[in-house]
Amino acid sequence: MKTKLCLLYGGKSAEHQVSLRTAKAVIQALNLEKFEIHPIYISTDGKWLKGPQLHGPVDSVQELQFTDGEAIAPNALMSSISPKEDSGYDVVFPLLHGPNGEDGTVQGMLELLNLPYVGNGVLASAAGMDKVIMKTIFAQSGLPQVKYVWSLRSTWEADPESAYQYVEAELGYPCFVKPANLGSSVGISKCTNRNELEKAYKEAFQYDRKIIIEEGITAREIEIGVLGNDYPECSVAGEILPKTTFYDYKAKYEDGDTALIIPAEISDEVYASMSDIAKKAFKVLDCSGLVRADFFVTADERVLINEVNTMPGFTPVSMFPLLWKHSGVEYSELIERLIQLALERYEDKQ
Ligand code: ATP
Ligand code: MG
Ligand code: MG
Ligand code: MG
Repeated sequence: MKTKLCLLYGGKSAEHQVSLRTAKAVIQALNLEKFEIHPIYISTDGKWLKGPQLHGPVDSVQELQFTDGEAIAPNALMSSISPKEDSGYDVVFPLLHGPNGEDGTVQGMLELLNLPYVGNGVLASAAGMDKVIMKTIFAQSGLPQVKYVWSLRSTWEADPESAYQYVEAELGYPCFVKPANLGSSVGISKCTNRNELEKAYKEAFQYDRKIIIEEGITAREIEIGVLGNDYPECSVAGEILPKTTFYDYKAKYEDGDTALIIPAEISDEVYASMSDIAKKAFKVLDCSGLVRADFFVTADERVLINEVNTMPGFTPVSMFPLLWKHSGVEYSELIERLIQLALERYEDKQ
């Protein structure tokens, strides 16, 4: 019996195109002897479109963007694919990034539908999406990280001058201002003076009503992949060498000349410390399936966790799959491992 796999991709977020590319690559990599592929495309305006079963790889991402698919609103989805026995799916793989995909909302829906799904559950997804919540949990668990403060738009609007003075007193310059709930460096600014700080606040508050401000650190950026459920394992580490002042949106998706060095040239001690922190972060956020843990490593070899991403970039040339490839797990095997982990977690809960 083949596994009926539903691929959920596209989405309303800024990462729509990335998601399409991921879906195309995942379809290509799936072993059709083992899997039946059932696509659901979420258009940029948020419509859910169920496409026909796919019997092989597609030539272009356009083929995945159905305009004539059967429209299924997420709320109608409840009746159209629930309960599990009637849905026609054995497992769902949400290939979605950012809000409404990586933040626990889709995961909550799949929980209610009683469907197994790949990747993190509701709590880990939600906590991982909100940098303030994530860092508060890390701090409580004693994980090393940069100093940070946070602010609500309402607090800032009431008294911007005090907000800036607080940041200057607590962190000083340089500092990084980030929307609390985003990824791909969207809305993030590096500030070296008051003028830039004011601009950065305005920019970040366009994306979120909550922001985080962090001490700016001079350090190498090294990432590690974690895979598993209750027994997470770490990949080799990989280093990012952005050509810009920091790893911003342009460097991630437009320039494409950021170098990834895998495995990263780090000492055994630094690797041991990173993998230990990555596993602790995975456990304390109650993660399952996968995360990519991002670190700063200073010249004196201090290891600080920056964040975990609960649905990291997942094209074959993204850091997470490359880290596992260098650890001996090819892309198609990685996908199968993730599906297996999803089914195991589901069985565990029954
Ligand atoms: P993604 O999820 O795509 O990894 P993100 O939007 O969650 O990105 P971060 O990873 O927190 O954002 O930051 C983006 C980049 O900004 C980092 O890769 C790094 O280059 C730079 N950066 C962020 N915070 C700091 C900091 N405190 N000090 C120095 N550089 C930083
Ligand atoms: Mg992130
Ligand atoms: Mg992200
Ligand atoms: Mg990051």
